[in-house]
Amino acid sequence: NTPLHELDPDVAAAVDAELRRQQSTLEMIASENFAPVAVMEAQGSVLTNKYAEGYPGRRYYGGCEHVDVAEQIAIDRIKDLFGAEYANVQPHSGASANQAALFAIAQPGDTILGLDLAHGGHLTHGMRLNFSGKQFNVVAYHVDEAGLVDMAEVERLAKEHRPKVIIAGWSAYPRQLDFAEFRRIADEVEAYLWVDMAHFAGLVAAGLHPNPVAYADVVTSTTHKTLGGPRGGIILAKKEFAKKLNSSVFPGFQGGPLEHVIAAKAVSFKVAASEEFKERQQRTLDGARIIAERLVQDDVTQHGVSVLSGGTDVHLLLVDLRDSELDGQQAEDRLHEVGITVNRNAVPNDPRPPMVTSGLRIGTPALATRGFQAEDFREVADIIAETLKPGFDAEALKARVTALAEKHPLYPGLK
Ligand code: PLP
Repeated sequence: NTPLHELDPDVAAAVDAELRRQQSTLEMIASENFAPVAVMEAQGSVLTNKYAEGYPGRRYYGGCEHVDVAEQIAIDRIKDLFGAEYANVQPHSGASANQAALFAIAQPGDTILGLDLAHGGHLTHGMRLNFSGKQFNVVAYHVDEAGLVDMAEVERLAKEHRPKVIIAGWSAYPRQLDFAEFRRIADEVEAYLWVDMAHFAGLVAAGLHPNPVAYADVVTSTTHKTLGGPRGGIILAKKEFAKKLNSSVFPGFQGGPLEHVIAAKAVSFKVAASEEFKERQQRTLDGARIIAERLVQDDVTQHGVSVLSGGTDVHLLLVDLRDSELDGQQAEDRLHEVGITVNRNAVPNDPRPPMVTSGLRIGTPALATRGFQAEDFREVADIIAETLKPGFDAEALKARVTALAEKHPLYPGLK
């Protein structure tokens, strides 16, 4: 029972350094968040020791009476949260959830229709090197000149290729999708509709984004982005898909479930049903809008910096640097220098190579979790704007970042 710092000082040092990094910088990667201490406590619990192949009440191992309770709580809470008939909380990650979901409703060689990776889609929606791109016949739709998903193209491609599955969901898109229209098109060509709400699930839980559950045959999500829980995945669906989905997750793709992570998911679903969570998601949305509004002002746009689609309805915005001398890599590095962590991101029809890109993806969930209010997001917006202009003063900007980080201490009880 030797504590980590004594048993393994090398790993302990990396963990400590990461805590200090999270505490002292502004985390604005759109897919990241800060899990509550109670979630991390469940995740760091003795449940990590337990094998529990199968599902609550039907396990292939003895001694599952307590993990059954935790897993059933997770299932019941997530069904309630999103109004779903069926839930599977075992997928180890978003990509695992997507793999299990896709193989439950389609066969290798079938056609799938998803948003192009370069236009905001995810790897698991048909990227060439991913299982989805290797084993399925992929047709991709795109965003139009205004940066909005081109529903006319979705319909045209659906009618032309008659996909088995239409995928609605994204990793880098600043607007809401029209789930009713996706459903109409899917019905017209007798395709399944799969919605991947990994990014915006927290907004849906808070009632601040349309809920795809009523429209889709299958809905997948991660639990660690806007939803604010431990790293992991979930699958929701109509009852009729329950058997296929359960068997696709286990034994199809996974062995023993991570019951410690499932317990942590259960805790985060309780948090996600609270009023405090709703208020946090509202600040997340307000923050993204405040930053987008700042980055379309003249002092910034005159240097070729703009915002895709002109703004945002969600927790992220996409900075467009196609007309700027700054490329995505340089902009990411500059923000890193002042203490703001973001990721560079390809924009549609990006003229620069994928390792460089002409865009940035900036998200507000982690700062909202930290307690940032509108006035703080205005200061963040101004710091980002100044950093993206020529002749930026890194020292002065970093001091402003530090002041914000100190104003909203992260994990004050952890050392
Ligand atoms: N789906 C979407 C839309 C995502 O953005 C992501 C992660 O970025 C995933 C799935 C995959 O999640 P994970 O990284 O947990 O495998």
